[in-house]
Amino acid sequence: MRIIILGPPGSGKGTIAEKLAKELKLFHFSPGELLREEVQKQTTLGKEIKQYLDKGELVPNAFVTQLVKLELKNKKNFILDGFPRSLEQAKDIDDLKITIVFAMDVSETIVLKRLAQRRICATGEHTYHRTILPPKKKGICDYDGTKLIQRKDDKPSTIKERFKVYRKETIPVIQYFKRKKLLDIIDGTQDPETVYTTVKRILHT
Ligand code: ADP
Ligand code: ADP
Repeated sequence: MRIIILGPPGSGKGTIAEKLAKELKLFHFSPGELLREEVQKQTTLGKEIKQYLDKGELVPNAFVTQLVKLELKNKKNFILDGFPRSLEQAKDIDDLKITIVFAMDVSETIVLKRLAQRRICATGEHTYHRTILPPKKKGICDYDGTKLIQRKDDKPSTIKERFKVYRKETIPVIQYFKRKKLLDIIDGTQDPETVYTTVKRILHT
């Protein structure tokens, strides 16, 4: 199975992808996560990437597409979270034989509230919400025991910019997959368990 999950920042893409990947044993790839890792390493490349992330802009298409192709090489089953985010990226992966594309539908007002409460662990692999999806022990990751932190781009001004980029660059991608009859729109305002059950029902798993 080859799944793509799209949606505005904070719409719950990563949360579903993490759970689905674990349950269905799919390879999970989120370019955003890998980009943040590179920034954390403070390499020359990381410093360049940081400028885009801090502004809420897309990292150049060719670079991200190359990353995705490298990561997905020889992978039969996968879940792509947050890619493609532009028409150029979508067309660049036309050969990947995607099974289904989910688009999370959540308003900017809800996303702004959610992202103020988002926390991630130091490894960047696990995501929480301080009240809706809290860790067992306050401020500590359930899986690796690292301290939870807030993403630097989860501040209102950057979220607004990311949402703007989403409208301009990613909405056309959603329409592109609709024309290809691969699209399912999910009401991302439902509680996490209901969202997950809806996705699973569509996948017949
Ligand atoms: P994305 O990957 O689309 O940016 P996340 O999966 O990181 O979104 O979710 C954003 C925030 O909202 C996180 O704090 C997460 O715990 C929380 N969250 C995820 N799904 C839901 C949901 N259905 N309802 C409320 N909060 C959610
Ligand atoms: P969110 O969905 O909450 O915005 P992501 O982790 O998916 O979080 O993305 C964070 C940032 O990483 C984006 O704002 C962008 O700068 C960069 N990024 C992620 N995916 C892509 C992509 N497909 N193309 C270009 N830049 C990307």
